[in-house]
Amino acid sequence: MAEPKTNVLMEKIVSLCKRRGFIYPSSEIYGGIAGFWDYGPLGAELKRNVKDLWWRRVVHQRDDVAGLEATIIMAPQIWKASGHVDTFSDPMVDCKTCKGRFRADQLAETPCPQRPSKMVSECHGEKTPPRPFNLMFTTHVGPVQDDSSLAYLRPETAQAIFAQFKNVLETSRQRVPFGIAQIGKAFRNEVTPRNFTFRSREFEQMELEFFIRPDEAVEAICGHVATPAGPGHPGEPQPDWGWQMWHQYWVEERLRFYESLGLSRDTLEEYWQKPEELAHYARACVDILFKFPFGTQELEGIAARSDFDLSQHQRFSGKPMTVFDEELKNAWAKLPQEKQDALWRRYFEARRAYLARMGETAEQAEALARADADGLARGWYVPHVIEPSAGVDRLILALLCHAYSEVTDTDAKGKPETRVILRFHPSVAPIKVGVFPLLKNRPELVARAREVRDLLRPRFTVFYDETGSIGRRYARQDEAGTPFGVTIDFDTLGETPALKDTVTVRERDTGRQERVAIAELIGWLEAHLR
Ligand code: ATP
Repeated sequence: MAEPKTNVLMEKIVSLCKRRGFIYPSSEIYGGIAGFWDYGPLGAELKRNVKDLWWRRVVHQRDDVAGLEATIIMAPQIWKASGHVDTFSDPMVDCKTCKGRFRADQLAETPCPQRPSKMVSECHGEKTPPRPFNLMFTTHVGPVQDDSSLAYLRPETAQAIFAQFKNVLETSRQRVPFGIAQIGKAFRNEVTPRNFTFRSREFEQMELEFFIRPDEAVEAICGHVATPAGPGHPGEPQPDWGWQMWHQYWVEERLRFYESLGLSRDTLEEYWQKPEELAHYARACVDILFKFPFGTQELEGIAARSDFDLSQHQRFSGKPMTVFDEELKNAWAKLPQEKQDALWRRYFEARRAYLARMGETAEQAEALARADADGLARGWYVPHVIEPSAGVDRLILALLCHAYSEVTDTDAKGKPETRVILRFHPSVAPIKVGVFPLLKNRPELVARAREVRDLLRPRFTVFYDETGSIGRRYARQDEAGTPFGVTIDFDTLGETPALKDTVTVRERDTGRQERVAIAELIGWLEAHLR
């Protein structure tokens, strides 16, 4: 497939992924299909681990987040309300010479298909002026293919969360502040998919919508709104947190998550979008970037999106997205009149500005905003939201790039030999333990090794391998990123009586070997796989 080959390290990673069964081009036997990738046996395990770890951390280890798994195709009005039908586009230019289509903002980084040594911005082909190209894939639902059956493959998982907000709220016993998380496929008809899986047309997202009180409600309840005192993690959530504290909290939580997977802070960067880069409804957006071999690029975006999304669905569906907050109602009643007036006005102005921007007439915006502010005084509001939105595939690629390392050993004849070790953090490693009988042709070793394999299998992903020299088997597992190898040898069988029922455990990163009793093996591995 036409993937520009400009980066030697990326070439090696792409080829390792193919050779070891992490990632293959989709439909490769038919020449592939640009922007689509399949995960092979090791890649599927890696991906599953990453998604499980995210889910565990974001959903299971918290009281205030509930999960959701929604459909990929949803009512098309959702994408009208969200703004995707009208504005989810990239600027595209056509080259009249080669007939290629390119993203207007990426011409300087895109190789010319006819002269790959030149970038499209430098080649002499005549280009059309840029025009918007909507990135949503369309399809039709039902047997009639006309405008009334038009539907979209979701370009993000987030909108389903907003559309199901009320159902989750009513069935999960959650109260604001709380979040809804979803992992799933998203589709974008990217103009120029590139950098391996980094920009794909089908990919997976891990998204959290964390719903919070508007600052006016926090102020009414707590008397003030806490704002960040400085950089760093602000600690356990508090009732007086406004959107800025929640935003900072989620940025830091997400960074901690990446660190827990072995991506140290020096491999990451935070990019705070400038006011002129922000979407009109967003109050702040931080991109977490990873230093990929092809440049420092976005892994995840964490946006403070105000109450835009739920408000849009309220307007388009006609269904209220407001919540009732008893604490707010009670607190409001006790506020002095001037405070009530000030908060009422601030809320009213924010709602009016939003409604006017969305095309309501001045009169209508005023009337609706007045009703919203009156609602606030009775304890009702549309929650605001903080959205950490991460790409599974980009994280997988970051983990692969970060893990990739080469070592040069000398072979038996003294010849240098370079081989690959994937230094995955044990929590994401596709296989946790390799199990090897020292020799394949000794039934007593093989039988004992199979016993050890069966002992470990219920707890860990185990790969049993009996073919080739033990050195070769270690090397194969190093290349797969397996953190530990367990070898069953003659001492295991009692050749040296003191070592009977022990095995050799070899560490991938150091090559160090330790003798561990089989009876203690599970505990040993559990302690070392954290
Ligand atoms: P970019 O600017 O790189 O196109 P974006 O800002 O449009 O990304 P979002 O809409 O914020 O991305 O999507 C959230 C996350 O989904 C991104 O941080 C990224 O990890 C992932 N993602 C978005 N588009 C793609 C894609 N085409 N391929 C793989 N992952 C993607």
